[in-house]
Amino acid sequence: MRSSLIGKIEKARRYAKEPGRVTLSGLTADFHGENADHKIRYTDGRWHCTCDFFGHWDTCSHVMALQEMFRTELPAEALESFLEE
Ligand SMILES: [Zn+2]
Repeated sequence: MRSSLIGKIEKARRYAKEPGRVTLSGLTADFHGENADHKIRYTDGRWHCTCDFFGHWDTCSHVMALQEMFRTELPAEALESFLEE
């Protein structure tokens, strides 16, 4: 039992060095902006942010920041609005 757990831990450490194995299918975050805190979601292929700007433009500095932060972990469709810039 214990030796098989040790094997899993070793495998996990190897996996952790290979971020290409992971694609985020969803994400929720509390974003501490300069003026206020906002809640951000990426679910079912769509972004949402509680800030006013997002309501008019379907993107905002908070979403764009997360797209930059998680560029290698997000699926291509989650980066579309960022890449159009
Ligand atoms: Zn926002």
